[in-house]
Amino acid sequence: METQTSKIVIAIDGFSSCGKSTMAKELARKIGYVYIDTGAMYRAVTLYCLNNGLFDGDAIDEAKLRKAMNGLKITFKINQETGKPETYLNGENVEKEIRSMRVSDKVSPVSAIPFVREAMVKQQQELGKQKGVVMDGRDIGTTVFPDAELKIFVTASPEIRAQRRVDELLKKGADVSFEEVLDNVKKRDYIDQHRDVSPLRKADDAILLDNSNMTIAEQDAWLQEQYNRVVGK
Ligand code: C5P
Repeated sequence: METQTSKIVIAIDGFSSCGKSTMAKELARKIGYVYIDTGAMYRAVTLYCLNNGLFDGDAIDEAKLRKAMNGLKITFKINQETGKPETYLNGENVEKEIRSMRVSDKVSPVSAIPFVREAMVKQQQELGKQKGVVMDGRDIGTTVFPDAELKIFVTASPEIRAQRRVDELLKKGADVSFEEVLDNVKKRDYIDQHRDVSPLRKADDAILLDNSNMTIAEQDAWLQEQYNRVVGK
């Protein structure tokens, strides 16, 4: 008989496009946890800014965004056909739009704004307070859940990450070039690592995973092993 294991928080942080969400989703599915994509939340805020004229070139109207912040409701719902969670902004399904290059280009500066982070971190802590979550992002193990029982920090070379993102976008019918995506990946890495509030860094107690030369199946098996070890299975 399967013994009941108490639920934990699993924090998966790391660089852009290194397969965090693929492995996080698969583990959550296998162990019956809720998967939370925190990048999608920052992407939804960015989409709001783009669609509501809050950008002037690269400059963001922070006063307007601050006013709007409390009214932004970001939720996730499972798509019954695919079984995958999709992102909603104020009740509207924005899953496809938030993955576009238009949003990727602007998301890191929006994510660097302290009051945006404060609002998102609060929502994320609320979503994970009952535990039983696999949360992926940049600051989950350092800021959102510093006491998470299992912390992973994922990396891979920028070229490999860019190629993975290109393949994913092409599959969805987007028209992108490798150079454009590589440039975006490098820029986001830089901004994410150098912002003042919760910069991207490995938590001291996180396990480092470089998956440059791993298949998806190998990385899924590796993550499952880490989980089994922590819960004593
Ligand atoms: O994970 P994803 O690439 O979708 O995240 C998009 C962007 O959101 C990142 O490049 C980063 O700027 C921001 N982000 C963040 N903190 C998180 C998750 C994402 O700053 N916890």
